[in-house]
Amino acid sequence: MFRLDGKVALITGSTRGLGWAMAQAMVGVGAHVVVNGRTEQAVWAKAAELSLGTGRSSGIAFDVADLSAATAAVETVVERHGAIDILVNNAGIQHRSPLADFEQHEWDRVMGVNLDAPFALARAAAVHMMGAGGGRIINTGSVMGQIARPTIPAYVASKSAIAGLTRALAVELAPHGITVNAIGPGYVATEMNTPLVNDAAFNQMVIDRTPAARWGRPHEIAAAAVFLASDEASYVNGQVLLVDGGMSIAL
Ligand code: NAD
Repeated sequence: MFRLDGKVALITGSTRGLGWAMAQAMVGVGAHVVVNGRTEQAVWAKAAELSLGTGRSSGIAFDVADLSAATAAVETVVERHGAIDILVNNAGIQHRSPLADFEQHEWDRVMGVNLDAPFALARAAAVHMMGAGGGRIINTGSVMGQIARPTIPAYVASKSAIAGLTRALAVELAPHGITVNAIGPGYVATEMNTPLVNDAAFNQMVIDRTPAARWGRPHEIAAAAVFLASDEASYVNGQVLLVDGGMSIAL
């Protein structure tokens, strides 16, 4: 079960963090993973690492916030590999600022990467998945799509909208054999969160607030991605699978 043999997966923002963990996990169960990041050097270095012993990885450099480049990249993946079976919209950014100082361009930047890009990439990939008779789209939400903390309004809004986008695409694409789900990570120790892990008070808040009493590990998110991408998840659609150590259901 949970094999992805012969499947082509594009994972955005996969040179580090959760995307990298998902890339490793998917290659491990047989997929060909197209690694994405913003520089050729980074994507091909990580693709080479994944290819060792498997030959099942390649790279494609583009900035997901450049929607034309993102759309074109989907076409390139299909030209190179003959299909795009799995799209993981993983790339995401954060901006923290008190509301009065939260600049409009920062709001736009977060929404561009976290919401506009997943929409554009899903639209481009869905066309090919429909032609192929099926596929998997996995978006990356957050526990911050369910609950909120101060100073991150764009992040909370974008991740909440990801839940809605996931449902909207799921109902439209289900007749074509495509499932669209999201993963909602809790606090996972990745590069994005290094300042928070190193902040003693914040670190303690995460431990106290999480029933599991610890930060999540990237492989725990990757396992959810493998499941949602697999044939075995064919009847799971439109859901946000929260992988958060129980944070979102605890008071
Ligand atoms: P990270 O910062 O460690 O990695 C994000 C990756 O996305 C990086 O490789 C970065 O280069 C890439 N990226 C950023 N902007 C990009 C762009 N415009 N174009 C292409 N690539 C771009 O972050 P992470 O912790 O691995 O987070 C991955 C996803 O998971 C994000 O969507 C994030 O919001 C979400 N998430 C993370 C956590 C967590 O605790 N780590 C919790 C909830 C949700």
